[in-house]
Parts: sequence; structure tokens; C-alpha cells
Amino acid sequence: MRGLSEGKQAVLRTAKKAYREKLMAGTSGNMSMLIPAGMEGDAMLPQAGGCHGSLMIITPSSYDYEIMEEKDIVVTDLEGNVIEGCHRPSSEWRMHAEIYQHLPHVQAVVHTHSPYATSFAVNHQEIPVVLIEMIPFLKGKLEVSAYAEQGSAQVGRNAVEILRRKNACLMANHGIVAVGESLESAYLNSVYVEDAARIYHRALVCGKPVVIPGYEE
Ligand code: 13P
Ligand code: ZN
Repeated sequence: MRGLSEGKQAVLRTAKKAYREKLMAGTSGNMSMLIPAGMEGDAMLPQAGGCHGSLMIITPSSYDYEIMEEKDIVVTDLEGNVIEGCHRPSSEWRMHAEIYQHLPHVQAVVHTHSPYATSFAVNHQEIPVVLIEMIPFLKGKLEVSAYAEQGSAQVGRNAVEILRRKNACLMANHGIVAVGESLESAYLNSVYVEDAARIYHRALVCGKPVVIPGYEE
């Protein structure tokens, strides 16, 4: 497990990459990685209060990705208490915490408002398995989690229902969330969500997309 500083650099690098790749506009989206209890590495930290003593390294709320630096990344426990950092953590910290608390295999969470995928989320429209990458990376079709108020724990609970079976889901009238056993894999899954949505959209425009045999459910 990486130390806190290395983890912050990874979160920063990935957030900037996602912004550059236009998966997030303005200050929307957020991402985090989990630091399991006792794995803080190089940091001398006050006692974490949250469940399990695990920590999250998470992007700050409403902060310009272009000027974001390592010092702007926030460390919290799973109850949202800031352990390190000078900004408020992402307003979606409860969603991140819900996912970590309910899905022990998840080590990182990437939330974006990537435009093609979010268009389907706005329509409450699933994306069927039309592309080979959706099978190994996303574990099947993209389902839509129920709408909940931004920043509420319910956003996370609704997503968890789908993320028990999948590595990503669309979030009704909001965006997408992707998870992984590392930040790199969660990010890659978020890229494949947008890729699948873009290609499915284009296929719908020029014809009738065919679902991969065996994945018609
Ligand atoms: P934050 O800037 O607070 O992370 O919020 C962005 C977002 O995507 C809310 O859902
Ligand atoms: Zn959002």
C-alpha cells in the first residue's frame, strides 16, 4: 500500500487526467482512494475517528482542477472528519464512504459527469452489452441507480445496490460512478463507461445496435 503522499499524488494525477479527457466539466466530479487502517505509510496522523479507522484520500469540493496541487487533496475518515488538508472534502464524501463500507473489494472510486454516459443517465436508460470491453471491465450492461439528493448517503446506497455486481453504474439525472481495486482500474472503468455510451449513442443514430450474444438480459 502506498503512503499518504504517494496516494495524494495519484489522486491529483488521475483527477487532472479525467479533467483533460473531458470526463468532468468545471469542478464537477470527484475521486478517492481508500487507505485501510494502519496503512498510512509515511504520515504521522491523529487518531482517525471513522468506522474501521480507514481513511480516504479525496478531491476537494468545488476546486479548479487546473490549479489543483497535492496540498489541496484532502484526507478524511469514513465519517467525513478531515484528518489532513485545508479544504472541504468533496460534497460526495458520503457516497465514497458508503461504497467503501459496503464493498470491501473496492479500493478506489471515480465519479464523473462524462457527457455521453450522463445523457443516458438523464434518460434513465440502461446501456446494453454492445461492446466487448463492457464484459471484463464493467461486468455487463450499465444500469441506472435511483436518483438521490446530491451529497446524501442515499446516493451511495443506491449505487451500492448495482456496484455489488458491477464495476460501474449510471446515476439518474447526475453522472456515473466507477470502482476498482486500484485508482488506475477505477479510472479505466470510468473511461470505458464513457466510451460505451459514446459508441452506443452513435450506433443508435445510424442503425440498430446488436447486443453481444448471451448478454441480452
Ligand atoms: P464536489 O466538487 O463537491 O466534489 O462536487 C462535484 C460533484 O460531482 C457533485 O456530485
Ligand atoms: Zn456529481
